[in-house]
Amino acid sequence: MGYKITVLPGDGIGPEITDSAIEILNYIGKLEGIEFKIVSKLIGGSSIDQFGSPLLSETLKECASSDAIFLGAVGGPKWESLPHEMKPEQALLKLRKELGLFTNLRPARIYNSLSGASSLKSEILKNVDILVVRELTGGIYFGEPRGITNERAWNTLEYHLEEVQRIARVAFKIAEKRKKHLVSVHKSNVLESSQFWKDTVRTLHKEFQSVKLVDMYVDNAAMQLVREPSQFDVILTQNLFGDILSDISGMITGSLGMLPSASIGEKYAMYEPVHGSAPDIVGKNIANPIAAITSIAMMFEYSFHQPKIAKRIYSAVESVLDGGNRTKDISTSGSRFITTTEMANLIIMEYKNLFES
Ligand code: NAD
Repeated sequence: MGYKITVLPGDGIGPEITDSAIEILNYIGKLEGIEFKIVSKLIGGSSIDQFGSPLLSETLKECASSDAIFLGAVGGPKWESLPHEMKPEQALLKLRKELGLFTNLRPARIYNSLSGASSLKSEILKNVDILVVRELTGGIYFGEPRGITNERAWNTLEYHLEEVQRIARVAFKIAEKRKKHLVSVHKSNVLESSQFWKDTVRTLHKEFQSVKLVDMYVDNAAMQLVREPSQFDVILTQNLFGDILSDISGMITGSLGMLPSASIGEKYAMYEPVHGSAPDIVGKNIANPIAAITSIAMMFEYSFHQPKIAKRIYSAVESVLDGGNRTKDISTSGSRFITTTEMANLIIMEYKNLFES
């Protein structure tokens, strides 16, 4: 068995955390008899510096010929003053759009030993295990017309029936396999596009009667996520709201450095940590690699259909955290502060201890 993976390390801490995660991927490959062909390409600011473009068409082609894509992060202060269409972040939007990656899955689960690292009280964190299903290729990030002048700036929030139906169908199917509870988040009291979203999801619900469907306004959802996060299981929402809500659910877990994600379409899939390029900590070997490593776990689950290996990765991570090992972003008093590479090595060793017979 073999797979080709295109790795796009990107900018800032991207290369540090992707290196750590690929080490684990290669170790598991050897252990489980899976051959990985890894092809690395530039994206974002590093691609602008080298080629004058955030995403070359040959990089896009390479991604389209892979079994999975693994991305670090893009962006940073060096490229902030570039015109909008030249910014590193445009590479991400283009990848998502061109590869049709319309489903963004962002799980946020609490590791028991990390409840002290969250800004919320540990008693309200019990049993928190949330999956945000975010629509990724539509909405205001892509809507036309858009523009900016000295007097005025505008964007367009538009959703088509098929776009809402296909993401809602994915969310209902996932909810069926989890706790059969789906919260559809929108702002139907103010926005026509949200009224449309709400009605479309409600209509589709007739096909998924075993799932309990709850409607929630986005402002209330943001408040409820920090008030009582355990009430949520699967959250379904549009691109912009999902971007914000998944960062909130991320902080509940202690750090953005803990949050993996998968962006999946009909033909392609891309895996990446939710966090950005973290320019404030780049090059210090202190970035948390767990979001990148658990993004690899999601790759095993969704692209290689190996949920057992995915669970093993999560177990190895949990066990290392239970041992009191922490990168700086999740450190609490009494914990052992370790580097990016030490964390990755410990997770490999733990995987070995637990699963290499
Ligand atoms: P960020 O996620 O890069 O950083 C926010 C804070 O979280 C920083 O204090 C950072 O040090 C910390 N952090 C993030 N990841 C961490 C990790 N793995 N370990 C430890 N700490 C971590 O967000 P930002 O500062 O708003 O953005 C920085 C740049 O990244 C910007 O150019 C932005 O556009 C870009 N960005 C890219 C992506 C992406 O590539 N998917 C996502 C978000 C932001």
